[in-house]
Order: sequence, then C-alpha cells, then structure tokens
Amino acid sequence: MSARILVVDDVPANVKLLEARLSAEYFDVLTASNGAEALDICAHSECDIILLDVMMPDMDGFEVCRRLKSNPATHFIPVVIVTALDSPSDRVRGLEAGADDFLTKPVSDVVLIARVRSLTRLKMMTDELRMRAITSLEIGMEAPERSAIADKGVGGRVLLVDDRPSSYERLAPILSAEHTVDVEINPAEALFHAADGNYDLLIVSLSLENYDGLRLCSQARSLERTRQLPILAISDADNNARLLRGLEIGVNDYLLRPVDKNELLARARTQIRKRRYTDHLRDNVQNSIEMAITDALTGLHNRRYMESHLSTLAEQASSRGRPLALMILDIDFFKSINDTYGHDAGDDVLREFAVRIRKSIRGIDLACRYGGEEFVIVMPETDIQVAGMVAERLRRSIAGETFAVNKGTKRIDVTISIGLATLDHKDEPVADVLKRADIALYRAKHDGRNRVVSTAA
Ligand code: GH3
Ligand code: MG
Ligand code: MG
Repeated sequence: MSARILVVDDVPANVKLLEARLSAEYFDVLTASNGAEALDICAHSECDIILLDVMMPDMDGFEVCRRLKSNPATHFIPVVIVTALDSPSDRVRGLEAGADDFLTKPVSDVVLIARVRSLTRLKMMTDELRMRAITSLEIGMEAPERSAIADKGVGGRVLLVDDRPSSYERLAPILSAEHTVDVEINPAEALFHAADGNYDLLIVSLSLENYDGLRLCSQARSLERTRQLPILAISDADNNARLLRGLEIGVNDYLLRPVDKNELLARARTQIRKRRYTDHLRDNVQNSIEMAITDALTGLHNRRYMESHLSTLAEQASSRGRPLALMILDIDFFKSINDTYGHDAGDDVLREFAVRIRKSIRGIDLACRYGGEEFVIVMPETDIQVAGMVAERLRRSIAGETFAVNKGTKRIDVTISIGLATLDHKDEPVADVLKRADIALYRAKHDGRNRVVSTAA
C-alpha cells in the first residue's frame, strides 16, 4: 500500500520528522512549507493524503483545508490536521473546515501510521469508485463531489449503542439536535438493529458494562449489510491500545471522554457526509454499469451487451448439447413512419415495441436493440418449432394492435418481419447463426413483409 502523502508545515524540522517516519513505512512523501505551495502541489499532482499544519504564516491550515474541500478536483483527498493546540474548539474548527482527522503534536508514531493506513484504505476505495464512475460523468450525470460539497451532514440517521444511562442520556439529546437518533441499550441486539435500520452512522461506546464494544465494531465490519456503515467509537481517555485496535478493525473515527458537545456533532457530520458521498459514488457506478449495457430509448440490452453475451450462451448450449434459437426482428417501412408522423412518433413505436417484446418472451431469453429499428432475441433451450411459435405470436402482437403515437392522439398500424435460425451443430460460430437469421429476414422482407421466415441449415 504505497500511498503518496503530502506533508505541509512551515517549520522545516517538523516536515523532516514526519517525512522520515512515513518514508520508513514506505510511503511516498511530498513536502510543502506553506499553504499556497500545498494547494499548488495538489492541483498538479496526485496526492492520497495531506498532513496539514495549522499555524502557518499567510494562510493557516484551516483555510488550506477549506479550499481543498470546496474544490471538486481535490474534495476527495483526505486531510489530517496536525496541531499543537489540543483544545476541542480547534478540533471543531478543523472538522468544520472539512478535515477528515486530527493529530496532536507531538505525534505518536503508532497513531500516525494507523491513521494514515486507514485513510489510505478509504482513499483507495473511493478512487476505485470514482474511476468507475467517470463514464457516468462523461454522459452527463451529476458529479458526486458537487453535492458532497453542498452537503452539511445534518439530518442523518444515527444508532447509538450505549448501555450506561449516565452516558446516553447526555449524548442522545446532543445528537438529536441535528439527526434522528435511536439508542440501543442492549449491545447483543445492536448488530441486528444496525443491519435493519438503514442508518448513516453507528456510534459505539467502548465502555459498555457487559459487552466488548470492539466485538460489535468488528462484527459490523464483516456483515454485508453494515460493511459500509461508518463507525464512531467513544472511548475512555486512558485506553489507547483499544482505540488502535479499533482503528485496525475498521472503526472510522473516535472521541475521547469526556465528550465535547461540538466535537461530537462535528465528527458525526463529517462521517455522515463521507457516507453520503461514497453512497452517491457507488450509485453512479451502478448506473454507469447499467447504462453501458442498456439501450436508453427502449431499456432493452444494447448491441454491445448482446455481442459479449451471445457467445457465452452459444458455448453453453453447445457444451450441454442443448438447442438455441435466435431471431432478428425488423419493423416494416419504419422510415415512412418517421416521414409521415415525425421522429418522435418513430421513437414512440420503438418504445412500445420493446414493451410488447418483453411481454412475449421468458426471463431467460435475451432481447436487445441491435440497431435503429432492428432487434435480436436469443432463446436458450428452444428448438426451431417452439421458436417459430414464439416468433409468430410476437408478429401477431405487433400487427394485431395499433400503436399510440404523438402523445396518444393518433394510433397507427405497425408490422414486423422476423428471420429465425437455430444453432445447428456443436461449436458452430454464433456469427453464422446470426447470418442465417439475417438471410431469413431478408427473405421475409422480399416475400412481402409482416411474416416469419426460418432458415433450414
Ligand atoms: P424495411 O421494411 O425494408 O425494413 O424498411 P424501413 O423503412 O423500416 O428500413 P430502413 O432501413 O430504410 O429505415 C430505417 C429507419 O429507421 C431509418 C432511420 O432513420 C430510422 N431510425 C433508426 N433509429 C431510429 C430511432 O432511434 N428513432 C427513430 N424515430 N427512427 C430511427
Ligand atoms: Mg425496417
Ligand atoms: Mg432496417
């Protein structure tokens, strides 16, 4: 895990110290001695994490952080503020500037490396998601960074796991000012509760009466439903070893008792914003995957998807000695529908045509839009007789009922021609089957349209 870390501090000795520690762990280190230089480096090279000093002349660390976090090009880089000031109000200022984490000087080696490692893991995951989502940006979907910058992190759903009334009776009302809070006082039930509740944040007290809070954190990390749920641990101040263990397990952030009200709120907001951002990224990836294989007008699979999937279906059929049928469908005189009623009417016909196709085929059949008004349906486990019946039923479902166009103001007659072929012998290239279906389609057109023709081999 060789991440590139940018260390920013106006005191050269501090830079050298952090650089040496990080290099010893094989991190790749860049350095800057003021805010302007840091922003410049971020704009021109890839950084995975930024360790940022607060007290610097000209521009302080809070301002550098604010600028990085409000720029969509650098928003997703984790920022750790390194400060000599250990007062809660400075932590809150940093978190409000968008900092992902805090380290207090003198920086302990173990904490430094644990935090940098855990942020690196998170960064790599979001990088992967961002990379996969890039195509969705290219086709005009909203950039997740923009909404993340606007998100204040309030209005989340929080589950607080705490069995000590003196603790939760204080924490829950604080959180309720900005979020919807449920308190789970039975730690043994907490995992189910977290998995079912659609939460944005899990807060776990590590000082439970009869239960190991870290066990709960670790279980939440291994359960599919809660794997992405951020965890904020609340620990007693003298329990460093357990905290480090928590960070290794995958706890995202922590607070020490006595809990400062504003720091609790700021940390909860930060985790909730991050959660929403990665969810948004993940949705984008899902959408771009779907878009890459779907025809936008009809919602059927597109040609690219069919071509990659068709050979797999043919190989399966061949190796199992099972039949496979394939038909090409083409709308008759479609050009004249466009010419007579307009291109939008043509689109209406294509959409409705796809709806009728879906109604006529089985779940295992693969229907796709092959070109303009040409469609292909692949039917596994189907011989030529059955395929002929399906094709005929489809033809009738088109010719037998008019199509509404121009917002339902007009109904028009549409017919289709279908060419049908089957996989004829083991290991036949599927391109040959497509070709025969195409020849059959040509015959159907030639013989007068609105008909099904199948090729014998
Ligand atoms: P044939 O019966 O021989 O198939 O004649 P046809 O007019 O259907 O075939 P031709 O290939 O001459 O014309 C197809 C037309 O389909 C031409 C093209 O403009 C139109 N077309 C292709 N894609 C779309 C689309 O997405 N929407 C609309 N409205 N028309 C499309
Ligand atoms: Mg046509
Ligand atoms: Mg055509």
